[in-house]
Amino acid sequence: MSLKVSKRRPLVAQSEIRNMSIECAKVKGINLAQGVCDLPVPDEVLKGAEAAMEKGTNIYTRFDGRWELRKAIAGKQKRYTGMDVNPEGQVVVSAGATGAFYSACLALLDEGDEVIVFEPYYGYHIVTMASLGIKPVYVTLEPPSWEFVAEDLEKAVTSKTRAIIVNTPSNPAGKVFTREELALVADFADAHDLFVFTDEIYEHFVFDGREHISPATLPGMSRRTITISGLSKVFAITGWRLGYAICDPEWALAIGHFSDLVYVCAPAPLQIGAARGLDELGPEYYQDVSDDHEKKRDLFCNTLREIGLTPHVPEGAYYTLADVSSLPGNTAKERALHLLEKTGVACVPGSAFYQGEVGEGLARFCFAKEMPILEDAMARLRKL
Ligand code: GLN
Repeated sequence: MSLKVSKRRPLVAQSEIRNMSIECAKVKGINLAQGVCDLPVPDEVLKGAEAAMEKGTNIYTRFDGRWELRKAIAGKQKRYTGMDVNPEGQVVVSAGATGAFYSACLALLDEGDEVIVFEPYYGYHIVTMASLGIKPVYVTLEPPSWEFVAEDLEKAVTSKTRAIIVNTPSNPAGKVFTREELALVADFADAHDLFVFTDEIYEHFVFDGREHISPATLPGMSRRTITISGLSKVFAITGWRLGYAICDPEWALAIGHFSDLVYVCAPAPLQIGAARGLDELGPEYYQDVSDDHEKKRDLFCNTLREIGLTPHVPEGAYYTLADVSSLPGNTAKERALHLLEKTGVACVPGSAFYQGEVGEGLARFCFAKEMPILEDAMARLRKL
């Protein structure tokens, strides 16, 4: 027999994020590894989905999602970013932001294309592209400010570059791109005629009075930007798999056709629940979510500082990268496993977010936990 796996199989391993969740479950530890977000789901969202199920909204949706949700997404986008979005043709609902990104890569990129990515990066962006024969080219950002200049982008560009990914607020660094930085990206994308794929899944987790700016709102960016986000984080429904892409109708149709091919549609009644959440929850809901996580960030980063695992304090999202180089071990993985063994607290080795050595001295902790669980985690860490 000569049965064998595909050539792309070795490119896709179990993510380190999931690996650590498994290690954590083995010791019944506290999972600060996977960005699960175990906060309560807003009532509007839960009740909306329940009612939709009862009413019989249980069959396939249109390839680009239920009208109610596309309309609610367009409305939210207008309220929070000022973007004018036509729900009939410019919004594609997919299976999570991950599904939207995969569909966008299938629809708009070819094997051999190069895409610029900021490092530290979110591993799923890299592996999605690698599995399609697309080459990520890295622009490495240095802590504590994670800044970059135009020249850093220019150094990464080749004749094969087709796109750049902007993840703001970023996972894992918690960088919130400033308007000036996004203007650099916009000029760069314009000069080299690139698509800009965004990942704005943490758009409502922005701290210290900072502002989330959607890259598509910068002058000249609307046609070339594929705005990607989802409801997983802000409604704490990571298992519902509801994400979306917003873009020019020409790209949206293509992305929608690939999303249909891979996922057919996102879960119908859950789309209705999310639509109700978007329609009915006011600005105070989003402010509370942000404030709550800002407080948790401060408490958690203080604890890390106390025990000598110096954190890079994030500007947004809900992770902190901390310096774990003082822990025993030769690699970030060994250090993360040591920490899990000693404290029962799981984190993600920094090597999951970096190509080279830098990641080996870092680990990512997720602080989006209900307060009693976060307190328990902090108490355990303090005993280290
Ligand atoms: N985005 C989340 C994280 O970074 C969850 C990832 C996942 O499990 N696919 O942890």
